[in-house]
Amino acid sequence: MFDSLSDRLGGVFDRLRGRGALTEADVRQAMREVRIALLEADVALPVARQFVDEATEKAIGQNVLRSVTPGQQVVKIVNDALVAMLGGDDPAAAELNLGVSPPAVVMMVGLQGSGKTTTTAKIAKRLSGGQGGRDRKKVLMASLDVNRPAAQEQLATLGTQVEVQTLPIVAGQQPVEIARRALQAAKLQGFDVLMLDTAGRLHVDQALMDEMKAVADIATPQEILLVVDSLTGQDAVNVAQSFSEQVPLTGVVLTRMDGDARGGAALSMRAVTGKPIKFAGVGEKMDALEAFHAERVAGRILGMGDVVSLVERAAESIQQEDAERMAAKLAKGQFDMDDLRGQLAQMRRMGGLGALAGMIPGMKKAQQAMANGAVDERILLRMDAMITSMTQKERSKPELINAKRKIRIAKGSGTTVQDVNKLLKMHQEMSTAMKKIRKMGGIKGMLSMLG
Ligand code: GDP
Ligand code: MG
Repeated sequence: MFDSLSDRLGGVFDRLRGRGALTEADVRQAMREVRIALLEADVALPVARQFVDEATEKAIGQNVLRSVTPGQQVVKIVNDALVAMLGGDDPAAAELNLGVSPPAVVMMVGLQGSGKTTTTAKIAKRLSGGQGGRDRKKVLMASLDVNRPAAQEQLATLGTQVEVQTLPIVAGQQPVEIARRALQAAKLQGFDVLMLDTAGRLHVDQALMDEMKAVADIATPQEILLVVDSLTGQDAVNVAQSFSEQVPLTGVVLTRMDGDARGGAALSMRAVTGKPIKFAGVGEKMDALEAFHAERVAGRILGMGDVVSLVERAAESIQQEDAERMAAKLAKGQFDMDDLRGQLAQMRRMGGLGALAGMIPGMKKAQQAMANGAVDERILLRMDAMITSMTQKERSKPELINAKRKIRIAKGSGTTVQDVNKLLKMHQEMSTAMKKIRKMGGIKGMLSMLG
């Protein structure tokens, strides 16, 4: 949590605190650090450079607002520039373009192990109206992967799982033949969407590219989605470059976003391909696919789980006695449900979850899981209701809360046991974070460090 990215950005903005205006020297100094921070978040070098140039230009030209500190202003400028570079916040850009006479063909490309097959089934589930999906399209999936043993069976198994049909497997056929057969089946049987899951390679090679091109030629896909593992870091850029030079990509899917707290690959992908990032894979399960949210990812890149910023902001609204009380509790290593409730109330006062969700460890996950994108005050109110439904004993000793108690609390607050579990998990994560703060000398210690 106190990773170098957060620290560095924290450091940049601390230095800018208390100054009257954003001078060019301030901005340049801060942007040098931002650049290093981006590189540490695995943003590709040329992309980081371009980003910094643009943000610098914007920042120097701006008048300093009276009501904010220079630090806040830089945060806002960097954040806005990140959001813009990630494709803005136009939800339509993340949608698949399937408005053609059926079948609309969606082709998935990418390296081996990037998550093509998994994502194919996830998207098919979403389109066919499976859990979470709004559309009710008739979807057919076909695997063109004849290299990897049992690759076609893997897709068939997932198809059964998500209740989406797969093209019957015929042994010995080559990718282009399979694509042709799939297209014919989709047309004859009235499918709305045909999803083609292609073979990958461990590295980009010409044979793979030729195969992609041949398939694209006969299937004329509406969408060619490049699937990239967000954990591949700098190398992801080379992959994106090669694919986008050879096949006409229409979008990108970033997988394993659940394991990447930094989000740097998103920025690189967008910059290199110029194509919108349409989805983010956030787990192995079939419903672990989200529409891509530029704002959320920008928040991550800027320092997810950044307790320093949280404290910095909180310092403005926590009264001194609150801080003292909390410091005393922390000194004893306690952080109970009542404390969590106080924190939630403070977040509401500070303008809702939007600005702060990205800064609290655990909150990010709770938020993703609970709200599926709907970030608003209701989540905080629901958490509050759950805590209110606990007995005093449960609040001060959350480890008492067993399955039976969870059911009671869920009933009492109009939530589900799952919600209660998430709240407990979040409390746990916050306690851990608080313990780390304690190691740094408590909240007061941190506040003094922040100047
Ligand atoms: P392919 O070779 O490109 O078809 O990759 P697969 O779809 O077979 O995926 C390889 C592995 O990555 C599988 O174990 C998947 O369950 C896993 N995987 C795919 N997407 C995600 C994701 O978004 N998050 C996580 N944690 N795992 C994923
Ligand atoms: Mg595969």
